[in-house]
Amino acid sequence: MNDILRFATGWFKLPALGVWLCIIAACQEQPKEMPQNTTKLILHPTPEFNADSAYTFVEQQVALGPRVPNTEPHRKAAEMFLSAFRRFGWEVQAQDFEAIAYNGTILKSRNIIASYNPQAKRRILLAAHWDTRPYADMDEDKSRRREAIDGANDGGSGVGVLLEIARVIGKQQDSLKISHIGIDIILFDSEDYGQPQDEEQVAFKKDSWCLGSQHWAKNKHREGYTAYYGILLDMVGAKDARFLLEGHSMEYAPSVVKKVWDTAHQLGFGKYFVYEATNSLIDDHLYVNQLAGIPMIDIIQYEKGSFGSFWHTHRDKMDIISKETLYAVGKTVLQVLYNEDAAIAEQ
Ligand SMILES: [Zn+2]
Repeated sequence: MNDILRFATGWFKLPALGVWLCIIAACQEQPKEMPQNTTKLILHPTPEFNADSAYTFVEQQVALGPRVPNTEPHRKAAEMFLSAFRRFGWEVQAQDFEAIAYNGTILKSRNIIASYNPQAKRRILLAAHWDTRPYADMDEDKSRRREAIDGANDGGSGVGVLLEIARVIGKQQDSLKISHIGIDIILFDSEDYGQPQDEEQVAFKKDSWCLGSQHWAKNKHREGYTAYYGILLDMVGAKDARFLLEGHSMEYAPSVVKKVWDTAHQLGFGKYFVYEATNSLIDDHLYVNQLAGIPMIDIIQYEKGSFGSFWHTHRDKMDIISKETLYAVGKTVLQVLYNEDAAIAEQ
């Protein structure tokens, strides 16, 4: 029995107590600890990550309205992402599919896939989910729990950071042009359409979250596609966010976690990237690890059983988004990509 199944079984017995989620605190196993970095990494030059621009990308999503599958804002957002990646010079495709939600609703879904340097063999995969939760099932105001949330942080922030990374990489022409590695950005759809967790006595339905990553992992956009490793961004924009060492990331890709956290520390972002273990979470990276066989980590705000007080409430809107947090995450990921490109160039 794997940890998820153990978790699921336990959950089924105690449905009212739990937190099942867009991302679920899966098991109580303590992940491995990781020592803080003491060796100095070389930080190769990168272009500037513009936090104002990343913030604007989040705002533009929120301005459309909640990006819930089968709605107009959702359709418009997908078109907006496709045209943005094209404008930034990336090769783009939409992977359209129908996902079946926990309640039988058919969700017209689109994974958005953008590729940079599509011929390169050594590839890095970056991802975030772009759909937003149809419910505010954690909101204090019970009368508004069946209204969709803005999802500025939950959905919007990860996409905003990735669009800015795509923009700055795409526009480089000279010495800062990435030329040795390929990069794929996947915006997964239908991640957050799981069962409302304020419903009592509902049976746990396995694998009812993260439908876009499950679909992609079973139907990759390119035959035989693989990547060196992957980095998932989820809820990476809140003021004073802290990103801990998530259990599944440590289980499947500890060296990638170390690389990213060490890079963040060296850049001075130690207050965001903390060397402390936290639970294993069910998020898109789990399916990429288990079904696609690509080691993938999750940069996610989760600590002491909480994704933050705004999570799955109507408080998840623009005023909780911090440019400083977007910058810390975006600059770190950009640095990891440039270091990877330089490392391969030196081989
Ligand atoms: Zn969520």
